[in-house]
Amino acid sequence: MKRIYLDHSATTPVDKKVLRAMMPYFQDKFGNPSSIHSFGQQASKGVEDARLAASKFLNCAPDEIIFTSGATEANNLAIKGIVGAIKKKNPGKKIRAITSVIEHDSVLEPFSELERSGVEVIHLPVTPGGVIKLEELRKAIDDDTALVSLMYVNSEVGSIQPIREAGKIIHKHNEQRLKKWLSGKPASRGEKPEPVYFHTDATQAVNFLNCDTKHNFLDALSLSAHKIYGPKGVGLLYLKNKTPISAQATGGHHELNRRSGTLNVPGIVGLGAALSQLSAAKVLKNNARISRLRDSFIKKITARIPDAVLNTDLRTAAPGHAHFSFLGVEGESILIALDLEGIAVSTGSACASNRLKASHVLVAMGIPVEIAHNSIRFTLGKYNSEKELSQAVRQLEAAVKKLRKISTEYRSK
Ligand code: PMP
Repeated sequence: MKRIYLDHSATTPVDKKVLRAMMPYFQDKFGNPSSIHSFGQQASKGVEDARLAASKFLNCAPDEIIFTSGATEANNLAIKGIVGAIKKKNPGKKIRAITSVIEHDSVLEPFSELERSGVEVIHLPVTPGGVIKLEELRKAIDDDTALVSLMYVNSEVGSIQPIREAGKIIHKHNEQRLKKWLSGKPASRGEKPEPVYFHTDATQAVNFLNCDTKHNFLDALSLSAHKIYGPKGVGLLYLKNKTPISAQATGGHHELNRRSGTLNVPGIVGLGAALSQLSAAKVLKNNARISRLRDSFIKKITARIPDAVLNTDLRTAAPGHAHFSFLGVEGESILIALDLEGIAVSTGSACASNRLKASHVLVAMGIPVEIAHNSIRFTLGKYNSEKELSQAVRQLEAAVKKLRKISTEYRSK
C-alpha cells in the first residue's frame, strides 16, 4: 500500500538536497566547531555558511542568529530570555507581556511561567477565523509592556496573523514612548525607556510567507528545520542586536553566550540548506501549487461529504491547511480509520493530539466543544499530488459514512 502523508504541520520529510548537504558532517567533517584545529574549522565553516544562509533568508546580520534545538527552545529563550533580562535590569518594576490565546504550547507555557513570577500577561482574543484583532493589541500595549509575542501562522487551522501590521503598531508605540521620555526634564526623566520587543513564532510560516525581519519590524523570530523539509532537533532564534537576553542554557559560552551547548553541526547545515531552498520565486510557485491542490481537495470534500464544516478561513489561511469538522464523528476515529488505509492526518497539533481535550485554538475561535472533537486537520506539502488527494477524499468519504452509521449522536440528528 502506498502511504499518503497529509500532516505537514506536524513534520516534513527531509528534502534530498538537504540530506546530501548534511551527510559529510556526520563522518568526514565530524569536528567540534569550537575546536581550533582543522577538523574544528571544517565543522565551523559548515555552521557559519548555514548562519549566512539563515541571515540572508531573514534579512539580518549573521550574529543575530542563535542556533537552538528547535522552535520550542527558541520560543522559550525569546520569551523568558527577553522578559527575564528586563526584569533583572529593573528589579521591582511592573512588567506586562502580551501574547494571543491561539499560540503553541511552547509559547503559552513560558508565558504561564512569567505570570507565576509576577509578570502581568495579556492573552489577545481571536476572531471566528482565528486571527487577532489589531485594535485589541493597540489597546493592550501600555507603558509597562516589555514584550509582544504572536505566532505568524497557526499550526491547527492555518490562520495567518497580521505580523507586519502588529509590528508597525509596536514600532509606533516605541517612537511615542521615546518622545515622551525626551520631552521630560533631563534632570528628572530617569533612564531611557526600554522599547517593547516583538517576537514571532514563525515555525508554520517559513515555507509560505515573507519572514524578512526588517519588513515585519521584528526583534525576535523562532523557526524550526523539521517543518521546512530539514531535520528534526534543530532550529534558530533570530534576535536583533542590542535586544536584552538572559541565556536559558549556560556554561559553554557558545552562540556568543546566548545559548550554550555544542552545536548540532549536521542539523545546522541541514537547516541552512532548507532555508536556501526557499527563494521568493520558489515560494510563490509552491504556494500557488499547494493552494490549488488544497482548494480542489476542499471542494471535493464539501461536495461529497454532508455536514463537513470547514474551520479554516480560506481568506486568511496559509496555502496548505484544511481543517474540517465532520459532524457526529470523533476526529480520533477518522484518524485511525484513515491510518488503516495508509493516510496520515491529525486531529490538531501533534503535540496536543494525545490529550483528549478540545483544542484551545478551536475553543478560542468560538467552535462548540462537541464540534471541536469532530475535527481533522489536513496539511498539504510540496510532494503531494492530485492523485493522492483524490484517493484521500474517497477513503475519507467511506470512513465518515461508516462511522456515522454507528454514531447514535449523528443518527439522532
Ligand atoms: N511552534 C509551532 C507553531 C509549531 O507548530 C511547533 C511544532 N509543532 C513548534 C513551535 C515547536 O517546534 P519544535 O518541534 O521545533 O520544537
